[in-house]
Amino acid sequence: MRKNIVAGNWKMNNDLSQTKSLISDLLTKVSGTETKVMIAPAFTNLHIACELTKQSPIEVAAQNMHFAENGAYTGEVSASMLKSIGVNTVILGHSERRAQFREDDAILAKKIDAALQNDMTIIFCFGEELEDRNSGNHFAIVKSQLKNALSHLETKDWENIILAYEPVWAIGTGVTATPDQAQEMHYFVRKMIDECVGGHVADNTSVLYGGSVKPDNAKEIFSKSDVDGGLIGGASLNADDFMTIIDAFNRS
Ligand code: PEP
Repeated sequence: MRKNIVAGNWKMNNDLSQTKSLISDLLTKVSGTETKVMIAPAFTNLHIACELTKQSPIEVAAQNMHFAENGAYTGEVSASMLKSIGVNTVILGHSERRAQFREDDAILAKKIDAALQNDMTIIFCFGEELEDRNSGNHFAIVKSQLKNALSHLETKDWENIILAYEPVWAIGTGVTATPDQAQEMHYFVRKMIDECVGGHVADNTSVLYGGSVKPDNAKEIFSKSDVDGGLIGGASLNADDFMTIIDAFNRS
């Protein structure tokens, strides 16, 4: 069965000492949770994050990577570099990468292939802009984002895929999708996987919601049957807030 996952996307926040301190704070609170917990610090802090979380339930993810294995790509980081320091998961397709760094579906498909070739897990983000939702185009946009980036995958590749529905209008805005809006889209996505890949994959793929999840709204959103957790931005920078969100799923 699919797993409940709460992943923190730290974005371009936290220097080395802030990273160490947030991780040590989380480590004192996280034991006993049955929810899979992930954090995605900046590239410069991934190595120390892997060292500090080695014997813990926290998994470390990267926020991005390049599709090439190596070469003349100044400023970029490859999948094998991430693997060599113990990072086995990467966030791809975040709306900030799509909008600010012009990552389109074709580039994302190449990044997905590179991550899979390196046996990495991918948190693949997708979601519509506000005007798409207002014009009733949100299902079509999500369908095309998923088709363009993922339709070439083989069934076994889906073992390494986590999906994150992140409506762009809800990211960092304080405006959250209602639990019903999240459930409606997650159901649509699961049905699409069922039709295109198969029921077994649809049942076993975790679909996270992201967009202004906070301690006071997580429980209601996570209670929806097709919502398997969250990708958390701002609220993951505070250990107590992040733990409250993790605890929105039952603890052992
Ligand atoms: C994100 O950046 O993926 C995100 C969901 O951010 P926030 O929780 O701050 O809206």
